[in-house]
Amino acid sequence: LLGGNGEVAPTIFAEMTALAARTDAINLGQGFPDEDGPAEVLDAARRAIAEGLNQYPPGRGTPDLLRAIAEHQQRFYGLAWDPGTEILVTAGATEALTATLLALLEPGDEVVVFEPFYDSYAAAIALAGARLVPVRLRWPAFQPDADELASAVTDRTRVILINDPHNPTGAMFSQDTRELVVRLAERHDAIIVTDEVYEHLAFGAEHSPVAAMPGARGRTVSISSAGKTFRTTGWKIGWLTAPSALVTAILTVKQYLTYANGSPFQPAIAAGLRLPDAFFTGLAEDMRAKAETLGRGLEAAGFAVSRPAATYFTVVDTRPLGFDDAASFCRALPARGGVAGVPLGAFVTEEHDGEFRSLVRFAACKRIDVLREAADRLAQLA
Ligand code: PMP
Ligand code: GLN
Repeated sequence: LLGGNGEVAPTIFAEMTALAARTDAINLGQGFPDEDGPAEVLDAARRAIAEGLNQYPPGRGTPDLLRAIAEHQQRFYGLAWDPGTEILVTAGATEALTATLLALLEPGDEVVVFEPFYDSYAAAIALAGARLVPVRLRWPAFQPDADELASAVTDRTRVILINDPHNPTGAMFSQDTRELVVRLAERHDAIIVTDEVYEHLAFGAEHSPVAAMPGARGRTVSISSAGKTFRTTGWKIGWLTAPSALVTAILTVKQYLTYANGSPFQPAIAAGLRLPDAFFTGLAEDMRAKAETLGRGLEAAGFAVSRPAATYFTVVDTRPLGFDDAASFCRALPARGGVAGVPLGAFVTEEHDGEFRSLVRFAACKRIDVLREAADRLAQLA
């Protein structure tokens, strides 16, 4: 995990954010919104601080946030979870993922992961001493091949890790793929871990969690985060829902990672999860309009664009503009074009780097005027 000179190698997001700041470029690299979340949520956090909720919360999460997560899962997905035993609040989805993988994996176990994948997955799997088995999502639709998926899952597979809606591609899994994942997990007695942090950012068909599929609930850990839904990425409030035996195992690890976090933010996120349906549909609609604006701008600038079904992200191919190495392209782009993006090479195994070599991810979670300005700058590249 160390860089060549013995220093910490920054994640690609930290690197591109620093480069964007140095060059005064528009940062469409790291995925964070440039507008605040709902006033109800921000006000609730201020009130909680003023009321003195500034000491350790319970390790599982505050009872009221646990109840709010249960209500949210029931309202949107018809899933009933016991707030006392089947839900855990974590320091972002990142801790939920890491604690889950550390709890479930023994050295040598295999984890089937869809590639490209969010960068912390490979690090957490490596920390657990387990082996990552990639199944590729190919340009431009980024859907897995059923045969490739079926042959990746074996009796050595302890976990099938899915991210739906998907970062970095913006794709959503089809019903067939989700059914196949459940069937394979049942056949090989694997646990399904689903990262659903973009659950409320689907533009057309609504998100449907794997845990709601027949046969899945008893073997699935579902992970989400307040960061994307309430535009509070810096608060690091995440959660997971799972059968109680799994929650107990994960809590055992989590208590030594952070023990607990974010006491004044927990009631604020509880208030957010209880906002009316219109907030959630408005959020998806706003993000869809932003993705449309960015997609049109990227097309006009000459990129080949993979139109996302969800998330903050749009993936482009740089080859129509005469580039084929996205890593060099992204390192030069802030100074040369005034915009930052992230090469897809940051989300893949070295073994398959070649297949994703010319692809770049841009984040659309910015104000429309910022996206238009970025598109204008990119149009000068050709
Ligand atoms: N999973 C995915 C797919 C993400 O995109 C992110 C962050 N953007 C995370 C997990 C981490 O979420 P958090 O900030 O809540 O730790
Ligand atoms: N998840 C965000 C992204 O994909 C970044 C999170 C981070 O900086 N680690 O851009």
